[in-house]
Amino acid sequence: MLKIFLSGLYQETNTFCPVLTDLGFFQRAYLLQGHSIQRELVGTNTEIGGFYEALENLGNPVEVIPGLAAWAVASGPIKKETLEELVAMIIEPLKNSLPVDGVFLSLHGSLISEEHDDCDGLILEMVRKTVGFEVPVVCSLDFHAIVTERMLKNANILVGYRTYPHVDMGDTGRRAAFALIKLVSKKPQFEIIFKRVPMVLPVDNTETVEGPMADVMKTIIDWQKRPEVFNTSAFCTHTWVDVKGHGIALLAYVDISCLQEMERELSLLSDNIWARRMEFIQDYPDVEGFFARIDQYERPVAIVDSGDITTAGGAGDSTVLLRKVLSKKGQIKSAIPIVDAFTLEKAWAVGEGRTINCSVGGSDDENAYNLRVSIRAKVKRLSDKPFEIKGTSFSGMKLDVGRRALLQVEENIFLMVIEFTSMMNDPEFWRSMGLEPESMDFIVQKSHKLFRAAYADIVNSDETVDTPGCTDRNVKRLPYTKINRPIFPLDDINHY
Ligand SMILES: [Zn+2]
Repeated sequence: MLKIFLSGLYQETNTFCPVLTDLGFFQRAYLLQGHSIQRELVGTNTEIGGFYEALENLGNPVEVIPGLAAWAVASGPIKKETLEELVAMIIEPLKNSLPVDGVFLSLHGSLISEEHDDCDGLILEMVRKTVGFEVPVVCSLDFHAIVTERMLKNANILVGYRTYPHVDMGDTGRRAAFALIKLVSKKPQFEIIFKRVPMVLPVDNTETVEGPMADVMKTIIDWQKRPEVFNTSAFCTHTWVDVKGHGIALLAYVDISCLQEMERELSLLSDNIWARRMEFIQDYPDVEGFFARIDQYERPVAIVDSGDITTAGGAGDSTVLLRKVLSKKGQIKSAIPIVDAFTLEKAWAVGEGRTINCSVGGSDDENAYNLRVSIRAKVKRLSDKPFEIKGTSFSGMKLDVGRRALLQVEENIFLMVIEFTSMMNDPEFWRSMGLEPESMDFIVQKSHKLFRAAYADIVNSDETVDTPGCTDRNVKRLPYTKINRPIFPLDDINHY
């Protein structure tokens, strides 16, 4: 019987976020070890869930040795000791399981620590050293991975998501399972072709449903239909990390018989991406521009607070939109999430039904995007219970956002105050606290696109608002120092 070792460690780090990631971030999302991984993740739209399902359906009996499955919402770099602790939770059980026939790792591809800019490459290298070069290692990666030489060298196959907004995590795990079983059982030989187009893009027009990235995905999916092409992926880079290796990356594992032809194909596609580079940049209204034409939007409207996206590492404490809504004197029925441990403590101290006077937000600097705002609010509901995600992305997963309080300000404004940054893109975030998002005019979103599938039947329009913060969509405003240069659109270059 084949013996496969499996582990996952996943976070989309944001190096501009000042909040370091510690073990608590993983414990609040999930941190599973051993056989609880199968129990908790089978049936969920995750890479590991899809991997298990594919093995069951393949028919061949496979013994899976689960090590670690840990996932945290995006935040600042991971603490040195936290990384060491998590990596040990992969390497120690792997050592204890040897010999194994293959390894599956579910990583993000943009995990960064206080010490290392390429934690995913580091983990792959440590796994490789543990199992040796004869044992196949297949690794799934997010569409926003920054693929490095170290990752390419230490994984036999890197398998990327093919959707943005991401809805194919389970499918990616299934594709990784097929690739690994084929590697283990048939030992095919192939060449690697990798091309990177130097671009650091806001997420604006990088969806895989329509636009230039949809065309890229269609092409790489078509390539994989050829019998001599083993696996293909395209990665779109992750805007909010100041590291080297940015660019749209194309990756193909091919039989030597079609190496030259596929090299030409990848070059053509790279040239096409470069030629269309301006299509990736879009203009969005700033706060004043948005509110100036507010009546043009059919309500309920989802407003993307693009500078404070918690699924990309925003601290979740921006008050830019709240201040504007407050200035409208109760005309706009709004649902706004905010991370504020101090206010949360106050709400829990007085209890449901009581009124508090407090200030929310993250800073006292009057120029800051998260300047604190004074409010008088009624505590509508308190809860510390996890809720189940029902929307398409991560459906079935239990999400523990910790203690939270639903506050009502001036009749029409509902603030969801939470203690720690988290995913807030599913309607259950509000429904689990008794608020129906359908009844709102505005629902502020802290994800770029992830909310869309879950909110498709709820909102009648959505708009991305160009707000400041550590997920600023204007890459020219971001304080990069290490990024590979020259790069579009930071530098005025015509060729790459
Ligand atoms: Zn992503």
